[in-house]
Amino acid sequence: MRIPAQELEFDPDDRASILHTIGGLLEAGRISGGHNVERFEEEFSAYVGARHAVAVASGTTALELIMLAVGVRNRTVLVPANTNFATYIAAHRAGARVRLLDVAPETLAPRLRDITAAADADTAAVVLVHMGGLISPETAGIAAWCRERGIALVEDAAHAHGSVRDNQHAGTFGIGGAFSFFATKVMTCGEGGMVTTNDDTLAAEIRILRNLGKTEPWVSKHDRLGTNGRMTELSAVVGRHQLTRLDEYVALRRHWAEGYAKLLGAAPGMRLVRSGHPYSGYKAIGYLRPGLDRADFKREVARAGVQLAGEVYEIPLHKQPALLDMHAGEVFPGAEMSCGRQVCLPIYPTLGEDRLERVAAAVADVLAAGAADEC
Ligand SMILES: *Cc1c(COP(=O)(O)O)cnc(C)c1O
Repeated sequence: MRIPAQELEFDPDDRASILHTIGGLLEAGRISGGHNVERFEEEFSAYVGARHAVAVASGTTALELIMLAVGVRNRTVLVPANTNFATYIAAHRAGARVRLLDVAPETLAPRLRDITAAADADTAAVVLVHMGGLISPETAGIAAWCRERGIALVEDAAHAHGSVRDNQHAGTFGIGGAFSFFATKVMTCGEGGMVTTNDDTLAAEIRILRNLGKTEPWVSKHDRLGTNGRMTELSAVVGRHQLTRLDEYVALRRHWAEGYAKLLGAAPGMRLVRSGHPYSGYKAIGYLRPGLDRADFKREVARAGVQLAGEVYEIPLHKQPALLDMHAGEVFPGAEMSCGRQVCLPIYPTLGEDRLERVAAAVADVLAAGAADEC
C-alpha cells in the first residue's frame, strides 16, 4: 500500500455530527447570516487566546483585509522570500510595494537582522510566516522591535493552528494573525480563513471590510472600499467541528514529528528541522545535503511506496514567473537554500506508527544508497 503525501479523514462520528447540523440549517433555510459563523469566531478566539477572531472567506482574504485595515497603500511591506504566493499577493493587492526578506534555513523565518537591514521610514508592515508551524525564537523580539517603531507586525499563521511559543499562540504576537482553513491545512472547512487580533479597532475594521465596507451589516450604505470576504454558514459548521478536534490532531502530528526525529534524527545526508516548541506539526521538514538531487531522491522514495509531501515552498517568490519583473536580480541565499534543499515527510493525524516506520525506513535506505554512490 502506497503511503500518500496527504490524507484528510472525516470519521463516521465527524460526518454524522456535521451532517446533522447542516441538515438542521437546510431545514430552516438558514445558510447565511446564522449563528455558526459567530460561534466559530468566539470559539477560535478563545482557543488561540486573542480578544477577537473574525471569520473570512480564505487565508488570502484574511491577509489582504489585515493589510487594508493597517493601511499599507503606497508604502512598503516586508515579506519573507520563501513563503506562499498568497502572502505576497495580499500585500500587493492592498496597494503595497513588497520588499522580500531572506530567512534562516533552520527556522525558515527572517531574523531580526534581516528585518532591520530592509526596513526604512517607508515600511508599514512586516509579515512573519510560521512556516510548517514553526514559530521563530526571535518572534517576541521582532514584535517588540516593530512596536517601538510603529510598524505593524502581521502573522501569516496559515500553517500554525495550535503552535505555541513562550506560552503564546501563533496569531497573537503581532497586530493581526491570519489563519487558513483550506483543505490541506491543520484544520479545514474546505475554504475559509480567520483573522485573530487583540486590537478592538482592527477587529471592527475587518468586520466592515469583509462586508463590502458596510458599517451596518444589513444597510446598503458603504463607508469603505471593502470586498465580499465573508465566510459561509456551512463552512463555519465544518470549521467548528474541526476545532473541537484540533488538539487531538495537533497532538498526533507532534507525536509523528517526534517519531521522525527518533528514527531519522541521525540519518546521514538529511538534517531534520526541529521546532523547539509545541508546534502544529503541519510539516516535517528535512534538508538534504548538497549534492543529493531532490527530484531523484523523491523518485527513489516514491519507488519504495512513499509519496513525499509538497515543499514549503519549492520556488521562492523572487523566482515566481508572475513576480520576476518586480524582483529581477534579487538574491536570497537562505531562502534559496531552504526552498531548494528541503523535503517534507508525510505527516497527518491518521499516519500511524506502522506507516511512520515505513517512511523512515524508505528515506533511510535512499539516503544510504546516496551516500554509497558518493564513494
Ligand atoms: C494556504 C496559505 C495561505 C492562503 O490561504 P488560503 O486559505 O488558501 O487562501 C497563505 N499563506 C500561507 C503560508 C499558506 O500556506
